Amino acid sequence: MEALPEPPAAPWTGLGEDYRDGKIITGSTPHRLILFSFDDGPDRRTTPLLLDRLDAEGIKALFFLVAERLGDDTPRLRQQSSIAQEIVRRGHLVGNHTVNHVQLPLLDTEAAMAEVLGAQRAFEQTFGARPWLIRPPFGAHSQRIDQNLAARDYTIVLWNLGAGDHQVRSAQEVFDVWLKVMQRREREEGDRGGIILLHDTYAWSVDAFQRIVAHLRARNCELLEQGEELYDFVDDLSFFFEAREDASAEATAEPAMLAPGVLAERQARLRELTAQHCRSIPTL
Ligand SMILES: [Zn+2]
Repeated sequence: MEALPEPPAAPWTGLGEDYRDGKIITGSTPHRLILFSFDDGPDRRTTPLLLDRLDAEGIKALFFLVAERLGDDTPRLRQQSSIAQEIVRRGHLVGNHTVNHVQLPLLDTEAAMAEVLGAQRAFEQTFGARPWLIRPPFGAHSQRIDQNLAARDYTIVLWNLGAGDHQVRSAQEVFDVWLKVMQRREREEGDRGGIILLHDTYAWSVDAFQRIVAHLRARNCELLEQGEELYDFVDDLSFFFEAREDASAEATAEPAMLAPGVLAERQARLRELTAQHCRSIPTL
């Protein structure tokens, strides 16, 4: 039986330790910040292609892994565990998505924490370190669950830009739903960006990722012409993260704001790259 590669002696980065014990992250932001998150993997049929596409686009993402997909009992589990390691090796962040993908508030506390801590043990086995980020399946949480997660220094990461990719069967449909959600969030909440939720377990979602990126890069060509803020694919969670300190377990982080200097610097660099990119697209 082929064993998993040994976890490295020093814990890997990518487990989110910099973002431990934070207020609940909602993804809300008035800026055109875009952060992709992918749930329910790793999946050996779809995740490797997504990793290549993320590399090709130069985008880092969050992956919330289901622990029943990890382990070393079968060839499939060993393969998926090595894909999980590859996610971190390529510079993405991983977080806890429970063992069996259950709605935590429906369980008693002991059973709910068995789901969380069981997944934590699977992460320790796979990565040599525990995760600090968690996304409760279905986004379902409660005061009781929040308190128990906060006691273990977890930061809950939700999303504000869903795409209904579990309900449809094509990349075009995922893209259409995502665009409608994004436009509605802007109209109703003033969010011009945020955290996108897709599932790396569906081929159509891996394709939808590319459509969303292509759309936003094309939008940037128009926004550049108009002198507007451009869409900015962020590398990590820091803009959305707020330490909990003395706040309660249910406290939510403020919408992600950029300091004026940081915004100006990032946008200046983006404008340069976008100008090059848009010149390279032949006019129709
Ligand atoms: Zn999920």
